[in-house]
Amino acid sequence: MKSGLLIAATLLLLYATAQAQEKIIVPKATALAYAKHTRCEDGKPGKNYWQNSATYAIKATVDVTNKMLHGSERVTYFNHSPDTLKTLVIRLYQDLFKKGANRNSLVDVDPRDLTDGVQIGRMAINKNDVSTDVNQKMVRRKGTLMHVKLNDWILPGSKSEIEIDWNFHIPEHTLIRMGTIDSTTVFLGQWYPQIAVYDDLNGWDTHSYNGLAEFYNEVADFDVEISVPQGFMVWATGEPVNIQELIQPSYYATYRKAATSDQIRHLVTEQDLKKGAITTDKQTWKYKASQVSDFAFGLSNHYCWDITSVEVDKQTKRRTVVGVAYNPASKHFDQVVNVARETVRFMSEEMPGVPFPFPYMTVFNGDFGIEYPMITNVGTDPKFDMTVYANSHEIAHSYFPFYVCTNETKNGWLDEGLTVFLPEKIQTEIASLDEAKRNTAAFSKYAGLEDEPAVITPTHYLDQRIYFYLNYAKTEVALRMLQMELGDSLFKTCLRDFMEHWKYKHPTPNDFFHSFNRCSGQNLNWFWHVWYYQNGGMPDLAIDKVTRVANKVQVTVDNKGDFPLPIVLSFYNRDKVVKTVTLPASSWLEQPNKPVTVSIDSSEEITRVTLGNEYIPDVNRSNNTL
Ligand SMILES: [Zn+2]
Repeated sequence: MKSGLLIAATLLLLYATAQAQEKIIVPKATALAYAKHTRCEDGKPGKNYWQNSATYAIKATVDVTNKMLHGSERVTYFNHSPDTLKTLVIRLYQDLFKKGANRNSLVDVDPRDLTDGVQIGRMAINKNDVSTDVNQKMVRRKGTLMHVKLNDWILPGSKSEIEIDWNFHIPEHTLIRMGTIDSTTVFLGQWYPQIAVYDDLNGWDTHSYNGLAEFYNEVADFDVEISVPQGFMVWATGEPVNIQELIQPSYYATYRKAATSDQIRHLVTEQDLKKGAITTDKQTWKYKASQVSDFAFGLSNHYCWDITSVEVDKQTKRRTVVGVAYNPASKHFDQVVNVARETVRFMSEEMPGVPFPFPYMTVFNGDFGIEYPMITNVGTDPKFDMTVYANSHEIAHSYFPFYVCTNETKNGWLDEGLTVFLPEKIQTEIASLDEAKRNTAAFSKYAGLEDEPAVITPTHYLDQRIYFYLNYAKTEVALRMLQMELGDSLFKTCLRDFMEHWKYKHPTPNDFFHSFNRCSGQNLNWFWHVWYYQNGGMPDLAIDKVTRVANKVQVTVDNKGDFPLPIVLSFYNRDKVVKTVTLPASSWLEQPNKPVTVSIDSSEEITRVTLGNEYIPDVNRSNNTL
């Protein structure tokens, strides 16, 4: 805000008491959570907040030739809830590939990849075998979920040990977040039997995976051993604890150096791949990760590996190791290590300005653009801009939903909006990409669709067309409008406050909204209401009238649309901008349904006034100049 500051301040005083008092709808489960003090009405976790957790010890073998994964896991599941658990809900994501499964994924499943789903060899709970034959009635498989009746109930404050041996066919012709990248490159996500979330709001999360909506996972510790054929390397979530035994000493020496310096090192180059002898004869890669909500990995025998590290916490001097595993034929991927490192640095220092939470960040060049803790799976794009966009966006997910563990399957807009919004500045610096402008244009184009539901609509109800428009474009604009309303500094303070309270926890939209209300000291319910709870609607401000008396110019701005938007007026003397005035969106609250009048004194002649700009959405710009 420049010359508009004084006018804005005066207006703010006038309508401070007149702010709309809309209430945010509180779902029944949330109201109960307030009563039980698991959550607070001011958007903080309550004094009785709890969350269940697990440790996973997994041994997996990837049969690259036959595209099979064989695994066995021992899960220790901790019940921190006040409830006695009489059932367990286990996710078998790969049942998505069962014939007849309910799917809503971006790509269709190639019929050649249809299977009978995840095959379970053995399951034991607290060392007692449990029959997984559905006729025995101890388990029920529905969608991608397996409900298990427990003989041994899990009492509050106790734990249970679950052992499962399983296998499934790795999709060869279909890539939905995971599968066969090429004949000797595989990416595996959504691959192990995972205990579903049991939370204070709804108990067991029984949403089946349909291929579109992403994660809602418990925070867990992982200890994973992955066996691969000779000559393959494995990149995964977490720390490669036995890497010293797996790669030749000269490679290991370079790897060690990269972990402590800013220099980018081409650890495995195309020439190295031609020469061979990068790995040793050991074939089991061990990875360890703590406090993560998922585990994924990629493997290949012909990928280059670039590596560096970056100091993410100035106070503790903590560093994050940043690596990229890629096909040397992939366009732009030799530059991705720099994109990844600069994203990690930018997010640690500037936006959100919270030290990168994880010790490793690896980009695996696969297909799609999908985030997992400490590893992303990103496809090749002919455009450098898109390579930068996809990589910085997926890395931004390290904060949402992996640091602040929001529910992506229900509230995809919360993490997607933030992860589109947060890295915008670094994208502009690296690739002159302007996502803010692009999203403003997208929202201006699509706003007002007849079948446009409110952003708050649970993600699992959305079809793919609306999913991307709502969860990415519209929410990015909403966050930017919020930043304009609060100013950059207060916006960041509120965002960091929300992150600090909810790191490694499960916040809801109500927690997000109430957190900002509390931290900003403002009742922003009018803002949440129009941007998140309103069905559709169009942004359309217009200049109604310009009157000039002597040196005074008075502009009347009308809101013909459904969003209170910031008012940016540019006063021109022919081609020269004489003055710019910015008023916050809350200016519209002073006198609801009435125009806003802006006056300026100008010593210069004003020949033209324009309203808005490329960063403020507007479905009709023909009424923005007079
Ligand atoms: Zn995303």
